[in-house]
Amino acid sequence: MEIIKVNQLNKSFGDNHVLKDISFEVKKGDVMAIIGSSGSGKSTLLRCLIDLEKADSGDIIMEGKPLLKDGVYPSPPEIRAIIMKMGMVFQHFNLFPHLTVRQNLELAPKVVKKEEAVAMNQRCEAYLNKVGLLERIDAMPSTLSGGEKQRVAIARALMMNPDILLFDEPTSALDPELTGEVLSVMQSLANEHMTMVVVTHEMSFAREVANKVVFMDSGTILEEGSPEDIFIHPKEKRTQEFLSSVL
Ligand code: ADP
Ligand code: MG
Repeated sequence: MEIIKVNQLNKSFGDNHVLKDISFEVKKGDVMAIIGSSGSGKSTLLRCLIDLEKADSGDIIMEGKPLLKDGVYPSPPEIRAIIMKMGMVFQHFNLFPHLTVRQNLELAPKVVKKEEAVAMNQRCEAYLNKVGLLERIDAMPSTLSGGEKQRVAIARALMMNPDILLFDEPTSALDPELTGEVLSVMQSLANEHMTMVVVTHEMSFAREVANKVVFMDSGTILEEGSPEDIFIHPKEKRTQEFLSSVL
């Protein structure tokens, strides 16, 4: 089953045409890595998927429901219902600095889903345990390392029981010695068949964890395929050039 289907998506900022007829599908359990140079439109694409940016034309169909159909958005309540099934993890964590780790995790379930305290507390503890940070439950974000902040951000995204998780360069702001702990949490989510779309510069992650790799270049999907297709047998010259610059 398709979790997300994108068809002929276009987005411009003024006269900068940033996404050009983007089409792809993400099936349940897929781990799709999006790679490409800075400025190629990767973040804008993720932001359109979760309605942080409005696209200009095309379709975004999430589990059969249109977030965008022929360039038209549904009503705000319909949009909210759709994006509630998606979680996003950002490069700069975006934790609420004035809230504890627990409060960061419990805010959205409490406010958006009116979830009961007992069930929410249990899930909060279970997800923190999963990312190896149960002992930091009452910590303030400022006392955490970057890798810990990002693991909290992942646990926070999981609290909404998303059907898909979107990651925008989740390790790019981290010191190299802290990327491993975040990647290993992502690897364990993949092992549990969480559907994920990951914009990343970590070619080893794209190669070893993803089952689909998309190469974006100047607002287009220039090439897509299995990790083997992209990393071992890239067809396009631009893909080959990009890979030789990063590998
Ligand atoms: P990537 O994530 O691949 O580095 P982005 O999606 O961030 O690329 O950016 C693609 C293009 O869109 C760039 O030219 C960037 O300057 C432009 N852009 C991104 N966000 C905005 C914005 N909010 N306003 C205007 N231009 C933007
Ligand atoms: Mg980006």
